[in-house]
Amino acid sequence: MKNNTTANPNQVEIPKEVIVCENYCAGEWTSSKSSTFEIRSPYTGSVIGNAPETSVQELDRIVAAATKAQREWGAASMKERAQVLFRFRDILLRDIKKIAQRISSECGKTLSEAEAEVFKGIEVTEFAVSLQNLDVGGRLEVSRGVFCEYRREPLGVVAGVTPFNFPAMVPMWMIPIALALGDAFVWKPSDKTPLTSKLLADALAEAGLPKGVFSIAHGGRTTVEAILDHPDVKAIGFVGSTDVARAIYRRGTQNLKRVLALGGAKNHIFLMPDADPMLTGKGVADSFTGCAGQRCMAASVLCAIASTDGERAAIDKLVGAIVESARSITLGDRMGAIISSDSLKRLEAAIAKAEADGARVILDGRKPKAPSAYGSGGHWLGPTILDNVKPGSEAAVEELFGPVLSIVRCATLSEALAIQAKSKYGNAVSVFTQNGGVADEVSRQGRAGMVGVNIGVPVPREPFSFGGVLDSKYGHGDITGVHSLDFWSNIKKITTKWAVQKDWSWMG
Ligand code: NAD
Repeated sequence: MKNNTTANPNQVEIPKEVIVCENYCAGEWTSSKSSTFEIRSPYTGSVIGNAPETSVQELDRIVAAATKAQREWGAASMKERAQVLFRFRDILLRDIKKIAQRISSECGKTLSEAEAEVFKGIEVTEFAVSLQNLDVGGRLEVSRGVFCEYRREPLGVVAGVTPFNFPAMVPMWMIPIALALGDAFVWKPSDKTPLTSKLLADALAEAGLPKGVFSIAHGGRTTVEAILDHPDVKAIGFVGSTDVARAIYRRGTQNLKRVLALGGAKNHIFLMPDADPMLTGKGVADSFTGCAGQRCMAASVLCAIASTDGERAAIDKLVGAIVESARSITLGDRMGAIISSDSLKRLEAAIAKAEADGARVILDGRKPKAPSAYGSGGHWLGPTILDNVKPGSEAAVEELFGPVLSIVRCATLSEALAIQAKSKYGNAVSVFTQNGGVADEVSRQGRAGMVGVNIGVPVPREPFSFGGVLDSKYGHGDITGVHSLDFWSNIKKITTKWAVQKDWSWMG
């Protein structure tokens, strides 16, 4: 019989069977003897998987296998290693729908957002593949018969520890580049969203990556500390909250390892009265609601700048355009769910606190109607906009990590820049204006690693690298692009002298 129901292409398939995650050691899936923890879908609140807490002994076995495998992988030429990554890229493209379903089901984002994060991983992979032609070393005759040369060499075994909000993209900021440079990579996925990791490991294996070059060790703090303390792990890339980033940077560098630890964010947008209403309304609304505000590049504070009645009227119109654009965002297909009930409660409490501190809720996303397809167990918050937020209050200063925009009214750009300069974070700032001089001033004075002009989410495309400053990043360099290469590799300098025989007949 013909099925007349039309499948909703935006619907996330929540796994009905529990997905059991295993560690990945020497190219084999290995069950762990340690305890396991549960994974719940933000869409339904139901258990969809579990993963093990990797013990110190289990990690030892993973690192030993990685160390052995890295010798041959690191000795291969960059061109040979790039062939594996070419195939990896094609497999990601082939399987993107399947991977996006897995990402959405465990971290709550929409399918199009999940696909977008895989595309960013593909872009980093393409950059890594291009290193064979970009990063060719250098050689110069520095005096007669004396040559200086540099070559990039792998570090050995390196590790990545990643957050819940990008189960595929953040690991793929690191994995393709480290592999292209000849390292073996040990990945500790988020303990809230570890299920996508299996699909990436399977894709690398199918691409022909030798066994042991890529491994997975699941777990939480104990596993991370075992990685930080392991003598054979040479470098750790971390992405997560600032408190954890700081602890990881301290412990790793104390152990004399290379550490790059990206932390949290509180991103400011400077809104000028001359801004384009179309660009502003959609640009700002998409920025603070994308991934339900659970991304480190989300707009969080809008400094609305006006000093005359005319400017205030223009700014109010622009704020109206942002509110209308955000109001049109429907839950389920255009905006996903909040990662956990604890996070949802924390966000609702922060909105109530902002109100108590004198802010006005001009768009209230609390207690929205849950999309019917997912039942009543999910964690939902609609777009929320707070106006007249006081600088220095919690909603203006702390990372809330949800679809909440705090509007701080300012008289001048200098006042707004001074507010932003007090932030402990420094991931991104953006300005919405049609005035090139104002845009230039913000790109010079904004205390952030990434700046946007009429762009709400100013993530640089590869080969421009990704990374903030201040408490948004500890360590030197960036996590992707050209400024990541020195982190994942060593530069070897070779100086050579040959006797120059003046009477030598080269043609004889
Ligand atoms: P988190 O800090 O709780 O966890 C990140 C990773 O650290 C996870 O793998 C987790 O298992 C591990 N971890 C947690 N506590 C630990 C501890 N005490 N010791 C050692 N390891 C520990 O972060 P999250 O909640 O998964 O992710 C959200 C945070 O990540 C936000 O603050 C967000 O801004 C940040 N983030 C930053 C960027 C960036 O590029 N700067 C990108 C994505 C997310």
